[in-house]
Amino acid sequence: MGLFSRRKTVFVDSDILVIGGGMAGCGATYESRYWGRDLKIVCVEKANIERSGAVAQGLYAINCYMGMQWNENQPEDHVRYARNDLMGLVREDLGYDIARHVDSTVHKFEQWGLPIMKDPKTGRYLREGKWQIMIHGESYKPLVAEAARKAATEVYNRIMVTHLLMDRNNRNRVAGAVGFNVRTGDFYVFRSKAVIVSAGGASHIFKPRAVGEGMGRTWYAPWSSASAYALPILAGAKMTQMENRIVLTRFKDGYGPVGAYFLHLKTYTQNAYGEEYESKWYEHTKKLVGDYIDRHPVPTCLRNHAFLEELKAGRGPIRMVTKEAFQDPHKETVGWENFLGMTIGQAVVWASQNIDPKFTNPELTTSEPYVMGSHATCSGAWASGPEDYAPAEYQWGYNRMMTVEGLFGAGDTIGGTAHKFSSGSFTEGRIAAKAAVKYVLEKGREQPQVSESEYEDLRTVIYQPLENYEVGRNEIVAGTVSPSYLLPIHGLQRLEKIMDEYVGGISSNYTTNEPMLTRGLELLGMLKEDLAHIGAEDLHQLQRTWELQHRVLASECVTQHTMFRTETRWPGYYYRGDYPKLDDQDWHCFTLSRYDRESGKWSLEKAPVYHIVD
Ligand SMILES: Cc1cc2nc3c(=O)[nH]c(=O)nc-3n(C[C@H](O)[C@H](O)[C@H](O)COP(=O)(O)OP(=O)(O)OC[C@H]3O[C@@H](n4cnc5c(N)ncnc54)[C@H](O)[C@@H]3O)c2cc1C
Repeated sequence: MGLFSRRKTVFVDSDILVIGGGMAGCGATYESRYWGRDLKIVCVEKANIERSGAVAQGLYAINCYMGMQWNENQPEDHVRYARNDLMGLVREDLGYDIARHVDSTVHKFEQWGLPIMKDPKTGRYLREGKWQIMIHGESYKPLVAEAARKAATEVYNRIMVTHLLMDRNNRNRVAGAVGFNVRTGDFYVFRSKAVIVSAGGASHIFKPRAVGEGMGRTWYAPWSSASAYALPILAGAKMTQMENRIVLTRFKDGYGPVGAYFLHLKTYTQNAYGEEYESKWYEHTKKLVGDYIDRHPVPTCLRNHAFLEELKAGRGPIRMVTKEAFQDPHKETVGWENFLGMTIGQAVVWASQNIDPKFTNPELTTSEPYVMGSHATCSGAWASGPEDYAPAEYQWGYNRMMTVEGLFGAGDTIGGTAHKFSSGSFTEGRIAAKAAVKYVLEKGREQPQVSESEYEDLRTVIYQPLENYEVGRNEIVAGTVSPSYLLPIHGLQRLEKIMDEYVGGISSNYTTNEPMLTRGLELLGMLKEDLAHIGAEDLHQLQRTWELQHRVLASECVTQHTMFRTETRWPGYYYRGDYPKLDDQDWHCFTLSRYDRESGKWSLEKAPVYHIVD
């Protein structure tokens, strides 16, 4: 009997289980109630849905709004935009599905109290760019959470979900999930007829630029710990486009947003010598990617590419020219307020480094890579599409159901659909929930069964790190280093170093090749073996341990995909040194992977890209 077997086990039964109460999870919870009036709907969240997820601090803009009521854009326009930005490869059926519903989501936000800025001349929502509308969004997340709280039968905060449970009679059908309360340590067994994973993206799988005491300062939320990928991967779900990591160009050290600066303040960038540099790299980029460089707007990765090449040529740093715009007091105010809405830290960095953008043009930088499904990138699970719009090959079940029965996803979790952002993620949660309710109702009495031995075995595995620590610390004679365990932070730093050096992180200028990826996979394999020997001092460290486990599995998936796609599809996000060019003939396709949890082996394949919108 283990040291921690005295912990309570709590059983929770539900019809729909939503894992992760961020934007997509709140959307899923809200919509589940609409279609499933009498169903038991449970949302489980590792933090507190009031302020959890990437929108915790608030936002200044909603980045996905069509404006169909004013004929500003149509869903087809958004599909074209996302396809162009992702160098031709998006699931057009899924993207269209979000775009046609996203406006109604935004209207709900406004009804619930979100202040959306209006253009005084037209009375329409104030636009920042073609797709963005400006909001006073400090309370964006609490407002969305309130709708989810009212809709849910129960919300369980502070529970880290570690594994999904499978039906004992059908190993390709989900039956629930397990996790532990990060405050009390109680073990939770959630038995559910359908599960919607909406657990956000992944930061801290590549070494961040900010290390040591600043390591929490990443662009994507530091608590985005890849559960959205690891949970489905372990359950055998197919993943797609996991090589399509994203790199962001942002203000240096604080990662403050640049969108409002470019679009609203009309600022621009230049190299250290005050020169425009993007046009210099036109011919060079054209040789790599062909006419994708001539598209409008220029794809995000290609803009990064020019930035990176200019730095390599020794003409950095690249700066944002703010001195002109900030002479206008109104623009100066807007410039500072832009950070107050979502990245106060950038204003603090500037203050601490004596940077007043009125007199000094601030530096920009490119971030370490992140894995996401909702921004200018589309990594995630391979999902079935909408019945009325998806090609037959993209339909094997209910909308947004993965290749595992009863397992749905939304937001960063679902792959192939870039540019959904906060509003699109909430919308996709709604779409997934509607389909999950239909699934539950149609299955009727044919319900999945949870095996006791499965969750009891997982219980032992989940708490093992506490026991490793308790026992192993007796071997320490001085200091903190034990011969028999490693701490979660050590495992995390090792992971970040492997991914950084071998899989295309900042220290290799985002470049990798087959020999590097092969070595990276070997080292990740060794790290995986050592994860059995992690020691967790307390429940907080136990959470760190499971976040690390999820990050490692997602990293392995990213590495496998990067190895499989033998071309450089997105220069500026990463480079295959051995295949430096885009290759539309062989790689105008999706990459799919599947992990076999019994053998620990990965299998990879290609899937066709269908262009539905002309
Ligand atoms: C810096 C930054 C700026 C952005 N700017 C904008 C913008 O201006 N406009 C815009 O529209 N969008 C913006 N976005 C994008 C937007 O935040 C995301 O697209 C959206 O939050 C994704 O929704 P999601 O539900 O997939 O993930 P999240 O909202 O991050 O939610 C994931 C949830 O899952 C929980 N979770 C994770 N793992 C577990 C687990 N194992 N167990 C239980 N719970 C778990 C997390 O705590 C979190 O609550 C920005 C994002 C960032 C980081």
